[in-house]
Amino acid sequence: MQDMKKIYIFLSCCPVLVVVLVFFLILMVCSSSSSDSSAVPVGDIMEFNAPFKMGVNYTITSPYGSRKDPFTGEESFHSGIDLAAPVGTEIVASASGTVYKTGYEENGLGNYVKLEHTVSGIKYYTAYGHMSDNSIVVSEGQIVTQGQKLGIIGMSGRATGVHVHFMLMTPNCTYNSSDLKDPQMIIDNDLARRNKYKLPTIQPRPTYGVTK
Ligand SMILES: [Zn+2]
Repeated sequence: MQDMKKIYIFLSCCPVLVVVLVFFLILMVCSSSSSDSSAVPVGDIMEFNAPFKMGVNYTITSPYGSRKDPFTGEESFHSGIDLAAPVGTEIVASASGTVYKTGYEENGLGNYVKLEHTVSGIKYYTAYGHMSDNSIVVSEGQIVTQGQKLGIIGMSGRATGVHVHFMLMTPNCTYNSSDLKDPQMIIDNDLARRNKYKLPTIQPRPTYGVTK
């Protein structure tokens, strides 16, 4: 009789157990599908800024990914994000690191700087293209700190206007799809930071009583 009661309790608990098991299965499937191995950890992204000093107003003129090529009009892959800022704007290091490479690419980046960064033990690379002629002020192997000047914005190489082609790569500095990352999240964080920074100046001036 006692055994029967135990079996009855066990069976009555079963639907609850099934529901709990299904819940955990769904949870496992969801978490495994959302952890995209090609994504950069959010914490690591926070280390990077847009390649401009605070106070510079810039706009995104072309996002990362598939787009119509501005020269040919054909669908092509854009390896970085295009950021436009006024002529003469300084391009600065997005994060602290070492100058990996500087050079010139006629049909590509024009005058460029590539930096190497180590975040959470992982190598990241940022690239800055289309800088003005003779404006690059860093050299290979040099240690740079976040915000340090690299050069001046321009339109050297394959560019239709004054902008910086800003790239993020990890863990290797290549144009392979496995290394290229979308810098959009860096820009989103950066704009949030800048807006926060600017907030006091754009607040409406409080009025105190009667003014003349
Ligand atoms: Zn570009």
